[in-house]
Amino acid sequence: MPESKFLKIKCPRCSTQHITFGKATTRIKCRSCNKLLVKLTGGKVKIKAPIKEVI
Ligand SMILES: [Zn+2]
Repeated sequence: MPESKFLKIKCPRCSTQHITFGKATTRIKCRSCNKLLVKLTGGKVKIKAPIKEVI
């Protein structure tokens, strides 16, 4: 898992694309449908959406 790059992820529910930092420290929700895309579990980041591209 790349940690210091930007990731392009796609919401599995509505297909909206989001760009997030690989070392995100906050939860990220889809801006269209509010689905949780990036989750923090015990200090670790869990990306719940397919990664389309690493920038
Ligand atoms: Zn969505």
